[in-house]
Amino acid sequence: MATSTLPETEIEKTEQKSATKYVYFFGGGKADGNGKMKDELGGKGAGLAEMTNAGLPVPPGFTIQTDACREYMRHNSVSKEVDRQMEEALAHLEKVQAQKLGKGENPLLVSVRSGAKFSMPGMMDTILNLGLNDESVESLAKLSNNPRFAYDSYRRLIQMFGNVVLEIPKPDFDEVFDAKKKQKKAKLDTDLNAAALKEVIAEYKKVVKKHTKKDFPQDPHEQLVMARDAVFRSWQNDRAKHYRRINNISDDLGTAVNVQAMVFGNLGETSGTGVGFTRNPATGVKEFYGEFLLNAQGEDVVSGVRTPVHILELEKIMPEVYNQLREITTRLEKHYRDMQDFEFTIQDGRLYMLQTRNGKRTGLAAVKVAIQMVEEGLITKEEAIFRVEPNQLYDFLVPRLDEKSVKVEVLATGLPASPGAAVGQIVFTADEAVEKAGHGAKKNPVILVRAETTPEDIHGMEVAVGILTSRGGMTSHAAVVTRGMGKCCVAGAGDIEVIEKTREMRVKGQVFKAGDWISLDGTTGRVIKGKLSSLPPKADDPELNKIMSWAEPFRKLRVRANADIPRDAIQARAFGAEGIGLCRTEHMFFGEEKLPHMRAMILASTEKERRAALKKLLPLQRKDFVGVFRAMDGFPVTIRTLDPPLHEFLPRREDLMVEIAVLEATKPKAPKLKDLRTLLRRVEELHEFNPMLGHRGCRLGITYPEITEMQARAIFEAAVAVSKEGVKVFPEVMIPLTATLKEMANQAAIVNRVAEEVFKEKEHKVEYLVGTMIELPRAALVADEIAKEAQFFSFGTNDLTQTTFGFSRDDVNKVLPTYLAEGILKQDPFAVLDREGVGQLIRMATERGRKTRPNLKVGICGEHGGEPSSVEFCHQVGLNYVSCSPFRVLTARLAAAQAAASDKLKVEGGRTK
Ligand code: ADP
Ligand code: MG
Ligand code: MG
Repeated sequence: MATSTLPETEIEKTEQKSATKYVYFFGGGKADGNGKMKDELGGKGAGLAEMTNAGLPVPPGFTIQTDACREYMRHNSVSKEVDRQMEEALAHLEKVQAQKLGKGENPLLVSVRSGAKFSMPGMMDTILNLGLNDESVESLAKLSNNPRFAYDSYRRLIQMFGNVVLEIPKPDFDEVFDAKKKQKKAKLDTDLNAAALKEVIAEYKKVVKKHTKKDFPQDPHEQLVMARDAVFRSWQNDRAKHYRRINNISDDLGTAVNVQAMVFGNLGETSGTGVGFTRNPATGVKEFYGEFLLNAQGEDVVSGVRTPVHILELEKIMPEVYNQLREITTRLEKHYRDMQDFEFTIQDGRLYMLQTRNGKRTGLAAVKVAIQMVEEGLITKEEAIFRVEPNQLYDFLVPRLDEKSVKVEVLATGLPASPGAAVGQIVFTADEAVEKAGHGAKKNPVILVRAETTPEDIHGMEVAVGILTSRGGMTSHAAVVTRGMGKCCVAGAGDIEVIEKTREMRVKGQVFKAGDWISLDGTTGRVIKGKLSSLPPKADDPELNKIMSWAEPFRKLRVRANADIPRDAIQARAFGAEGIGLCRTEHMFFGEEKLPHMRAMILASTEKERRAALKKLLPLQRKDFVGVFRAMDGFPVTIRTLDPPLHEFLPRREDLMVEIAVLEATKPKAPKLKDLRTLLRRVEELHEFNPMLGHRGCRLGITYPEITEMQARAIFEAAVAVSKEGVKVFPEVMIPLTATLKEMANQAAIVNRVAEEVFKEKEHKVEYLVGTMIELPRAALVADEIAKEAQFFSFGTNDLTQTTFGFSRDDVNKVLPTYLAEGILKQDPFAVLDREGVGQLIRMATERGRKTRPNLKVGICGEHGGEPSSVEFCHQVGLNYVSCSPFRVLTARLAAAQAAASDKLKVEGGRTK
């Protein structure tokens, strides 16, 4: 598990090493490094080395390894040795190229590229055309006989360097550029001629001077050092940190820096740049897939400045280059034995490879690609199991739009960038998305509509239900990021005009404002007017079943679902749940017909009154249990006795006071007034300062034994009834929030007594267990004692995390963002199980409990039961089962299978990150 600070020993180790090799050269068919060295060279550097060694056309250069970045993070500078090795490598590069950096008639220009171990697309920075200055730009113009190209490259350098290194906001440059386009009546960036670009350069320089009080640095070596350090710093920018947090990547890794000779895709119409995949990353279909732009450089393809062309078109324009590209990328895929995502540039009809990596893909694609690669003999079935991220299986469960019930008006069709359906209200900025999307119960579905997204939008994309862009392709930022998130996205819907200033979306002569409803179909790319409803998906995809059938034989953990009502139980079983791990009975009390009886029970002032109310609840509760038992025929069902503080079933104190005040003013004689006053008094009596630690859990059943009695009766009467019909029932009665053996004994005695009573009355017996939830640290500590009475344990890790950290689950969001930003916590412990602390309690309680009762059944039923890394931990501790929400059952099944398979096969999860 990643820790967020570097251990002391590590610091010493790195600093004492005298002969660290910081810089790795690649070029001329040979590289110092290779594809395995992702830790040192980062993914990009390792890929460049591997491609060079394979004899592919890669512009030469060198990689400064991640150690230097970690040094930079500690001291805000790198050691002299790094500088020395860099100068040495640069001299070597200059020799190989027969050029000098930024000097002479044929100046060497380089790119300075970030690249960490795990790819973080667009999160860190890259600078192109470094080495250009007022002099070398003229040499480049002369040499290429193409002044437009030279000035275009220079203005790009000032822009990128200005933004990344000098931290000047992008819009300051964009304003200048757009104004120039307007002035020259240019539609596209390529419409600006050399003279116009020269003017842009002059104005860009003014922007630099204004912001930094200094001139744009002219010395190429100074440019290089500054750019290198800026790339190191970009590891720590907010976007990158945020990305690492949601993808569970350690902050300590650092990035490598690649310095590479430039090749130019902006040299005219026989040049260009592009990106592609060896298979379709949305569907997994084996087809050459990608986009390119002629006369363009670097990010142009993905940034959406112009709409790119499908890669198959390249075959018509430059057939030889196309064939070479196909041949190379096919080789790369075979070599890496995985789908590749590559970047290339064509300079004057010559192809250069600039990057290759295992491509990100949707869950649907991951499954299809894995199966096809097994069929092609590229990978084994065992490997295929690890080619799908458990969380990605969610894609099979994404909804579709219900188009039967309403008239569908398609506004536009864009690219099906990420599958699924989204229905929501339009927002135009990421901040607005966050503001409108709300939290918890008050969640509003919003769809983020942008001309194109940038890494700055990531927080908005995270909360939106769907993303719509008017520009950009299948490899645009919006497309790549949403696929990673498993979120519906339609990209490049060119008929739509997004006007940020007025916050409007115009299409087909209609104007849409923030708050208007639209529906997206990410599987076909359609944008539909209005609020459609969506249909639940089917989880019986044959390919999904196939991969699960390879994975499942490894699985040791059982997977159950948390379900309170028959409908959820049926759903869970369809997804493969092998029982219910948590059936919360209080949810059964909220129904319209039940709440009045529940309130009567709470308001009762004597046991007799309370019993009368409970009697009314009994048949209702029994009916619910019958439904769940039937759905789970043959599987165990864990039913928890009443857990929440009683006031949750009563109206809020403030609301009551208002209602009373209104009545007093309008109808002071109303008989209702008396009832309301009684209710208010009871609400005030039940008031607790800290209800989460208050009168709840087994404390309720101990103070009001008749509640547990009624619930036990409902459970056993239902169980006996369905058992008589031939349904196989295995009820497991679970007592919440115990901390002591005596609490457990007290409740178990009631349950066992009632069970016997019912069995006798009905002359029919069923097997059952009585156990407890472990959700207090004390319970974990005395687990050996509690196990004397408890026949099973189930870790309620939501409460256990709350009580172990002393964090209130409902208020933790006040501190969590700071804790995560500061690296005090690496992850939200309510989302990903804290192995170090809470995990230790789980391990200990399991061991102690089983010492007393060797066949103790142990499971987990908190949110963590469906989170892959937590599931892996449960496997390692040797739990019997995990239980999670129905929609996470598939994920938990695969995660549990992977955990067991990697044990057995001794492989480290070779997943794509
Ligand atoms: P990212 O990690 O964001 O993709 P890259 O370092 O790959 O950033 O570079 C950004 C863009 O610049 C890519 O399109 C890449 O192909 C291009 N690029 C990088 N280095 C060079 C180079 N030496 N010559 C030409 N284009 C380059
Ligand atoms: Mg790249
Ligand atoms: Mg609890």
